[in-house]
Amino acid sequence: MKGLQAYSSARDEFTGSASVFLDANENSFGSTAEGAYHRYPDPHHQQLRSKWSELKGVPVDQIFFGNGSDEPIDLLMRLFCEPRKDNIVIMPPTYGMYGVSAAINNVEVVKAPLTTDFQIDLASTKKAWNNHSKLLFICSPNNPSGNILDKGAIETLINDFPGIVIVDEAYTDFAEEESWSKRLADFENLVVLQTLSKAWGMAAIRVGAAMASPYIVAMLEKIKPPYNISLPNQGLALNALNNASEQVQVVAKLNEQRVFLANELLELDIVLKVFPSDANFLLVKFGEARKLYHYLTNHGVIVRDRSTQLHCEGCLRLTVGTNEENLQLIELIAKYQS
Ligand code: PMP
Repeated sequence: MKGLQAYSSARDEFTGSASVFLDANENSFGSTAEGAYHRYPDPHHQQLRSKWSELKGVPVDQIFFGNGSDEPIDLLMRLFCEPRKDNIVIMPPTYGMYGVSAAINNVEVVKAPLTTDFQIDLASTKKAWNNHSKLLFICSPNNPSGNILDKGAIETLINDFPGIVIVDEAYTDFAEEESWSKRLADFENLVVLQTLSKAWGMAAIRVGAAMASPYIVAMLEKIKPPYNISLPNQGLALNALNNASEQVQVVAKLNEQRVFLANELLELDIVLKVFPSDANFLLVKFGEARKLYHYLTNHGVIVRDRSTQLHCEGCLRLTVGTNEENLQLIELIAKYQS
């Protein structure tokens, strides 16, 4: 992989200014569709990276943008793991794509379960990895439990794990905790994932970021598909980032709704437990999770059944919605009769 010759796109080979572009086999006549979409987009997302750098205080050469954060998850696997030989370590219950992406890449998954209160079990995690463990995925706040994982335990794992540690911070903007991207200078084996799909409210455009050492970012840039984020999506992402202060207010409202939803749920007899959450969802234990799930679905309200996941027996994962949506959900659950 080190000697890999990356695809060199037409726009990679020319960086000056020009007025006639006859280098990339585009259609200079354009399209009949509204807007100008006949030129390939910037393959290295320079404007987006420089805005993200300004917002996050991370140097441009330590920022990678992908088609959602699902893309860097897959690329990291392809970059660091040899199929049928290496493995990744995950801490269930956690985000499903780590395991799916590993399976697609023919990479073994080693499981080091979280404790029953969804925290890192340091001793058993350290025992779980071996000489072929290349990536360790830590999701904080964790999906589906919603809690922040202990900072000290994460730091120990970054120090002790013999490979790359990925801290997936998809939900970090809903939490108070400082991002691990602030610690990139301390750990060259750290990758931090964030996304525009959650707090930024831009799930439809599929844009996610990986922040890491300049070396890892350069390697990701080398192996990604050349034009992995479309021109409209780069523009829409930039617009969203330019309105960061307004988005902070949206997140504050959403967090208020999380507290509201949790308190209302706790009033209901069918609710056995609401797990503490630093994300935009709540893991809730119900008396009759499966039946309740079908009842809600039949009434047009979709939640996520997590009752078959480790430590999540009887649990549904409820995304926090608008006040109207949350009221509708609460009202429906209150009317549920077994
Ligand atoms: N990480 C976590 C923990 C997630 O929950 C999700 C989406 N559900 C993702 C990553 C992927 O997000 P996206 O590809 O939309 O950036």
